This record gives sequence, C-alpha cells and structure tokens, in this order.
Amino acid sequence: MRALVLSDGKLRLANIDKPIPAQNECLIKILCAGICNTDIELLRGYMGFNGVPGHEFVGQIITSSDPKLMGKRVVGEINIGCGACSWCRSGNKEHCPARSVLGILNKNGVFAEYITLPAENLHVVPESISNEQAVFTEPLAAAIRIVQQVHLNPEDKIAIIGDGKLGLLIAQVLQSNTIFDFTLFGRHPERTDQLKSCSAIKIVTNYESNRYHAKFDAVIEASGTQDGFLQAINMLKPLGHLILKSTVAEGSQLNLAPIVINELTVTGSRCGPFAPALRMLENGSIHPENMISAAYSLDNWEEAFKTALKKGVLKVVLTP
Ligand SMILES: [Zn+2]
Ligand SMILES: [Zn+2]
Repeated sequence: MRALVLSDGKLRLANIDKPIPAQNECLIKILCAGICNTDIELLRGYMGFNGVPGHEFVGQIITSSDPKLMGKRVVGEINIGCGACSWCRSGNKEHCPARSVLGILNKNGVFAEYITLPAENLHVVPESISNEQAVFTEPLAAAIRIVQQVHLNPEDKIAIIGDGKLGLLIAQVLQSNTIFDFTLFGRHPERTDQLKSCSAIKIVTNYESNRYHAKFDAVIEASGTQDGFLQAINMLKPLGHLILKSTVAEGSQLNLAPIVINELTVTGSRCGPFAPALRMLENGSIHPENMISAAYSLDNWEEAFKTALKKGVLKVVLTP
C-alpha cells in the first residue's frame, strides 16, 4: 500500500506492506485524513517519531472479528493501552506507560491507505455526518477535553489564545454552551466567519499590549507558540487557571515565578472523549468542515504539507 513514511525528519511516499491486524484489531481503509499541527511538529523532531504519521481520520472497516462492525464508517481514539495496568483498568489508557499512539508513538498512522486499530478504540460515525465533518472528531474531542477537566464558572472571564484550528474548535465548544463569556485572541480577524453564530466573540489581534494584563480568570493557551504561554500568564488574574493545549517540539526556558507569585493553577490538556464530539457534529451545533482549506491525494502530499504550512491556511486533508 502507499503510505507517507517519516524517517530521520524526512517524509517520503513509499510502498509498504499493508498492516496485519492483531486479534483485537480491525483493518481500516482510510477515507479522509487531517493534517494536524502535531504532524508538522513530528516533522521537526517532536517525539522522535519514525514511521507513518497522522492521527486524524475517518475510515471504513474492512476486516473485524466483530461482524457487526464490518463495512462500518468509523473514527478512532488514538491511544492504545496495554489493557492490564491500573491506568488502563481505570479507563485512562491515554496515560498507560506502555501505550502506543496512532501516528505519534510506536504505531503507524493514517497518512496511508490502511491502518489497524483495536475495535474498542473505534466509534461508528452516524450517516448524517460527512467525511469532511467526521475527520474533525479527534481534534474536537481534544477541545471538549477542557470542559471535562476544568470547572469553568459561568461568571469567569475566559480567554482563548490562538485562532488556529484548535483555538477555533475550542471557541465553538464554549460557544455551544451559551453561558460562557469568552474572548478569542488571534491574528486573523477574517476567521470570525468560522464563528458566525455567536456575537460574543471578539477576535483581538494585538494581544501583545498590556491592555489585558490580569483581566481573565481562565486562559486557554492554544497558539502553539511559546509567546502564547507568556501572554497567557500575563493575562491571568491571581488565583487564575491556565489551561495548556499546545505541544511544541522545541523545549522552552520560561520564568515560572509568576505562576507561584499569583498562585495560578495549571492544567495540561490532551486527548478528549469521542462520543460527545460525534454528538456535537450530529446535532449540528458545530460545523468544522468550513475550516478545510484544501484537499489533496496522497500522491500530492508535498503540495499538501506546503499548503498546511502557509499562513492563513486552516485544515488540509488527504484522501488516499
Ligand atoms: Zn491532532
Ligand atoms: Zn496500560
């Protein structure tokens, strides 16, 4: 099968063996895959990953030991646990010390014609959800993870830093619950189009200024930059809550003293629940497909990654 293979920081299109599913796994044909910032970071050396990258997908089950799943269109959770440790047994397989992660850690990902995943990771996609919508399930789940982890008080002033794909998804999740008062900070005023249904959102482009110093009770950092982290700390009130969503390849040297002085609470936030994400897509409370800037075949992967890196581009998808 054709697949994009990353080795020593170089990506190339190659012909590799079709994966053979383990006993608990299904073979899945990829219908549509999304390029995520994490994939771009992998190319820069994040996680030191070698193999087939890509973790956002919608696909069709080709083989499964469960006849009910045969032929079904599915999306899949990306963490594969050992199934035996205390983390796995308590339903937290994303923290299993022996885990593999689709397209990120010890498991070939979705920039390929086929993948394998355990049946327990898969969620059947309702028919009313298009492939272009379903491919956003994983990042949407990551956005929903915030409200699963942090109690956001309706009286809180909330800021989201970053109007990229993840920032916009987080904004739409908060917007779906109309009691929240939040401001989206970004550099692309035109992206308010993505958030049309809500007038409460301001896109602020000059958040470098001190105008927002100590104005927010909770700040969600989703800019993917170190600068965003500094801005977030600057914008928080004492006793505020900092929620971190960005994964950046380069390490950082940061002065953490303001976190101590202002007694900030910091929450790291990664993968989220798929079922509520599919519910939001099904009931139409979110339309992430508007974020697709371009679609390419696997053969045109170079063009696809070039486009994904361009300023102003949101989601780029690959169809094998
Ligand atoms: Zn991702
Ligand atoms: Zn485990």
